[in-house]
Amino acid sequence: MIPYGHQDINEADIAAVEDVLRSDFITQGPAVPKFEKAVADYCGAKYAVAVNSGTSALHIACQAIGLTQGDMLWTSPNTFAASANCALYCGAAVDFADIDPKTYNISVDKLLLKLKQAEKAGRLPKAVIPVHFAGQSCQMADIAELAKQYHFIIIEDACHAIGGTYQDAKIGSGMYADMTVFSFHPVKIITTGEGGMVVTNTASLYEKLSLLRNHGITRDPVQMTRAPHGSWYYEQIDLGCNYRMTDIQAALGASQMVRIDEFVKKRREIALYYDEHLRNLPVITPYQSPECQSAWHLYVICLKSGQIKKSRREVFDLLRAAKIGVNVHYIPVHTHPYYQNMGFAYGDFPEAESYYERAVSLPIYFGLSTDQQDYIIDTLKKLLI
Ligand SMILES: *Cc1c(COP(=O)(O)O)cnc(C)c1O
Repeated sequence: MIPYGHQDINEADIAAVEDVLRSDFITQGPAVPKFEKAVADYCGAKYAVAVNSGTSALHIACQAIGLTQGDMLWTSPNTFAASANCALYCGAAVDFADIDPKTYNISVDKLLLKLKQAEKAGRLPKAVIPVHFAGQSCQMADIAELAKQYHFIIIEDACHAIGGTYQDAKIGSGMYADMTVFSFHPVKIITTGEGGMVVTNTASLYEKLSLLRNHGITRDPVQMTRAPHGSWYYEQIDLGCNYRMTDIQAALGASQMVRIDEFVKKRREIALYYDEHLRNLPVITPYQSPECQSAWHLYVICLKSGQIKKSRREVFDLLRAAKIGVNVHYIPVHTHPYYQNMGFAYGDFPEAESYYERAVSLPIYFGLSTDQQDYIIDTLKKLLI
C-alpha cells in the first residue's frame, strides 16, 4: 500500500537519536532547547516551547491565554478534532466559522458575519484558531484586522504548515498571530515520533507556556511567591500537565529541521506534478493563493460529482483496492457525535459538509517516487474517465 503520508528518517536522524540514548539525559535535557531554537530561528519567532504533541501544544496555548469556563473559542470545521477539543479541555465553549469553498480554510467573510452577530448577542470569542489546511496559510492579514476590531486572540493551528510561507514570511513568524502551533506526528512535514510546539513573540506567553508544560512548577526564584527554602526548592504556581518532550524526540526533530526545506520542496514538486497530470480529469485540484507557499502536508482533490459516474465512496474504495492509501481530510468536526450531542447539527456549516462529500487526499510525502505517482495518476484516469 502506498500510504497518504510517511516520515523520512535518514542515518543522520538515527545517529542523533543514538547520541541522546548514550547521553545522561533522555527526557527534557539539552536537546529540547536546541530543537526549540532551531524551529524559532527558522520561523523568525522569538520563543518556542516544545511539548509531547500538537494537541498538547493547542491545549497549553489555550491555557496560556486564560481560556476558561464562560469563554468562547472559534475555529474551522474542516480540521482535526484537536483544534476544537483544546477549548473544551479548558471548560470553554466552541463554535465554528464555515470554510471558503476555494481554499478550504476558514472564510474571512463568514468570520466577519459571525462576529457581527456575536457582538450583538454579547458572545464574542476570546480566541480564534485559524487552521492552515493542507499547509496553505489562512488569510491572516484580514483575520488580524478582525482580531483588532473584535478583540480576540489568534492561535494559528499550523500543524500542517511548518515550512510554508504567507506574504513571504515563514508560517510561525508571528506577524499576524499571538501563537502558532506545530505538530510533529510522523505524517506531518517533520517528525519527532509524537511531538508539538508553540512559537510566539510574546515573553509573557512564553513564560506561561513553559510553566504549563511542566505541571505549573517553577524553579525560578523570580517567579516564586516565597523565599526558597533551599536550593532544592520549587513551587507550583499554576495548574499544568506533564507535556514535556523528551530529548530523544527533540534530537530527532533538530536533525529533521536540517532537511525541512528539502522536504517542502519535494512536496511542492509532487503537488505540481499532480496539478499538471490531473488537469484534464473531472476533479478540482488545490487552489493556491498568490500570497502563500503551501508546505503541502496534504494534496486534496475534490471530485466533480456531476461529471463522474462513481460516488466518492466507490472511487475511494477502488483506489484503496489498487493499493493506493488515499484518505479523507476532514470529517467536519461539528458532525462528530460528541459535537452533535453538544447541539451542533448537519447543515450548520454547509461548505465544510459539501467539501467533505467530495474530498480525497492523495499520497504526498518526501519518499513518494515518480513511478508511484504515475501509477496513482494512471489509476485515477482509469477510474474517472
Ligand atoms: C495533527 C494535527 C493536530 C494534532 O497534532 P498531534 O501532534 O497529532 O497531537 C492538530 N491539528 C491539526 C490540524 C492536525 O493536523
